Amino acid sequence: MSFSALGLFPALLNPIEAAGYTQPTPIQQQVIPAVLAGRDVLGIAKTGSGKTASYVLPILHQLQQVGAFKYREPTVLVLVPTRELADQVQRVFNEFLPALSERQTCLAIYGGVSINPQMQEIGKANILVATPGRLLELIEKNAVKLSSIRILVLDEADKMLNLGFKAEVDQLLARLPAQRQNLLFSATLSADLSLIQQLILRNPQVIEVAEDAGDIDLIHQLAYLVSEEKKGPLLRYLIQQGNYQQVLVFASSTLKTDAIVNKLVKNRIHAASIHSKLSQQTRRDVLQQFKSGQLRVLVTTDLLARGVDIEFLPCVINYELPRSPKDYVHRIGRTGRADSPGDAISLVSPEEAAHFQLIQKKMGKRVKTLSGDVIV
Ligand code: ADP
Ligand code: MG
Repeated sequence: MSFSALGLFPALLNPIEAAGYTQPTPIQQQVIPAVLAGRDVLGIAKTGSGKTASYVLPILHQLQQVGAFKYREPTVLVLVPTRELADQVQRVFNEFLPALSERQTCLAIYGGVSINPQMQEIGKANILVATPGRLLELIEKNAVKLSSIRILVLDEADKMLNLGFKAEVDQLLARLPAQRQNLLFSATLSADLSLIQQLILRNPQVIEVAEDAGDIDLIHQLAYLVSEEKKGPLLRYLIQQGNYQQVLVFASSTLKTDAIVNKLVKNRIHAASIHSKLSQQTRRDVLQQFKSGQLRVLVTTDLLARGVDIEFLPCVINYELPRSPKDYVHRIGRTGRADSPGDAISLVSPEEAAHFQLIQKKMGKRVKTLSGDVIV
């Protein structure tokens, strides 16, 4: 299938081609027509499957149809859980916005940076990509109204609807017009579907692209049973032994990410973490350095890892296991491709051993497990 068969306005095909998209991904093939038809959509597909363009492109089509002149307030609202994701989604909109015959703009809104420039700009933007807290702040300051929003997107919807964000998202939903199109995207859906439908979606088209069972075989999975205090030395050993130049390490908390980074840096391994206590500029720089290959090890939690688009990685290491077996599959999915299989290594403490059994059972695959304590 080609993009031209999807019914998007012809001028959009130029930036699509310039972006190097030769054909729509499976989720795009299904979501784009549903959004164009005005349906509410719940789209579920793994990280990296192209969910962003699956909503950006048909939304731009709709903006092209209506024209910006009719509204003096934003008409599209995309809610995201992290600042990095806000920047990333805005970049995708900006890539395709020039195709519109009338100039329309997309603004990313998030905390951790000065609010004043956002106060100036927000009312004029056509599309807002926002984290909930800062957007609420701007609404309270009367910098923007959401009464013209026609399309609402919740990206990483299960994060947006879970406890940490729920109250803020509810406050925002209460300010939106009832008559609107709702688009929800997620890599996993842990929340109760019927609840989501009640809250947000009207008779949605649920589009789920199943994981390709073969994908997981492209990943060399390995686990080390290791005591908690030996995880640090084992991590360093594995990075150096494997001579990995780009490693994504997952930990359970921001405190833990800092502790891991400190140990790596003391041992002269170039490493950094990204978390909420760092300045936005630092977070941006660290992600950029990691993506460009200047930073060898990025230590992070699931929150940042989800949704953030990082090119193929040679190695992913679970310093600690995720609680959900699905998150395990998403984490290791950051590596492994047809042309270059990647390594996914888990450090499993005795306390985590039973949980690791469960993960393997859910995944339907046994992972070779070695003893880590004898190595370091
Ligand atoms: P997701 O939100 O599902 O995790 P993204 O939207 O971040 O995935 O897209 C992942 C990567 O795939 C991005 O680098 C994006 O540019 C690229 N991409 C998206 N659609 C296509 C396509 N049709 N063809 C090729 N690459 C694409
Ligand atoms: Mg995404």
